[in-house]
Amino acid sequence: MEKIIDEILKKISTSEKIILSAHTNPDADAIGSCLAFALKIKSMGKTPIVALEQFDERFKILPGQEFVVHDNIEDIEGDLFISLDCATEARLGKAEIFIKKYFTINIDHHHGNTNFGNINYIIPDFSSTSEMVYNILKKTGINKDIASAIYAGIIGDTGGLRHPCTTIETMEAVTELFKLDIPFSKIYNSVMGEKSVAAHKLLGRAIEKSVFLHNGKVLYSGITKKDIEEFNGTYKDLDMIVSELISVRGVKIAFFIYEKEEGSFKVSFRAKDEYNVCAVANVFGGGGHIKAAGCTISLPFDEVIEKIKEEIDKLF
Ligand code: AMP
Ligand code: MN
Ligand code: MN
Repeated sequence: MEKIIDEILKKISTSEKIILSAHTNPDADAIGSCLAFALKIKSMGKTPIVALEQFDERFKILPGQEFVVHDNIEDIEGDLFISLDCATEARLGKAEIFIKKYFTINIDHHHGNTNFGNINYIIPDFSSTSEMVYNILKKTGINKDIASAIYAGIIGDTGGLRHPCTTIETMEAVTELFKLDIPFSKIYNSVMGEKSVAAHKLLGRAIEKSVFLHNGKVLYSGITKKDIEEFNGTYKDLDMIVSELISVRGVKIAFFIYEKEEGSFKVSFRAKDEYNVCAVANVFGGGGHIKAAGCTISLPFDEVIEKIKEEIDKLF
């Protein structure tokens, strides 16, 4: 592993304009790992560009926003591409084009990463890509801003240091980040807790519509485009719903679906105990982690529910 880290750092030091990106609908880990790297690259006197899909305002508290570009990313030019927290080429969305154009460094912790980079630094089941970024950057020096971005990513993917993927090494990394006097309370409250008014209302709607199956072991819900429009929201207001569903006592598997694009539904799965939802997501061409996975299905709403139910029935 040390050798790969050295290779990554060497490649960065010999490049000037470095494009960074992560999976579509980026979460705290995707955004945090990109921003941490961008801040480091900037401090080395180079130019970072973070090409990401639009993300929720609660992540705007993180330093490094000045490097973020959401629009016309196909026009961005650089001389190195770093993909973070993304398992496959397709999950990069528009940023997929950079793989073919530039030397690509692929840094990720997802099962089933397709090793699409020229350098692939993949540790499946690691707490977060942000902790991997910590391990890369700690050799070269981390400042308060870099530490803040890394902290956001780590707490995002570990559910605030509570999921089983949290290790002693994760805690040690966080200890080191705390030593840099990061505003941890502010970051935690914003990244983990804050939601828009629309998100609050849509959560209420999703809970109201939720349905139990298998004697309360499965709980699912869905939000339609109509629901989103009613509360003047966007799909970015929905990403906290599935964790509310899995938090219900007795529930072992939760899934949540919403219509991201016309006729195409995004499904989020969460699991507890021995249940593996990555396997379910795989059936539909998706993936992720054993206890948190997702996929996209292009069928009518009711059929999406039926197909998923059929797969989940097999687990009981
Ligand atoms: P989400 O439910 O979107 O928070 O995603 C949970 C996990 O599943 C994350 O690790 C994602 O990277 C992964 N995931 C979500 N959607 C997809 C997809 N369409 N294909 C592959 N992996 C996905
Ligand atoms: Mn992610
Ligand atoms: Mn991640």
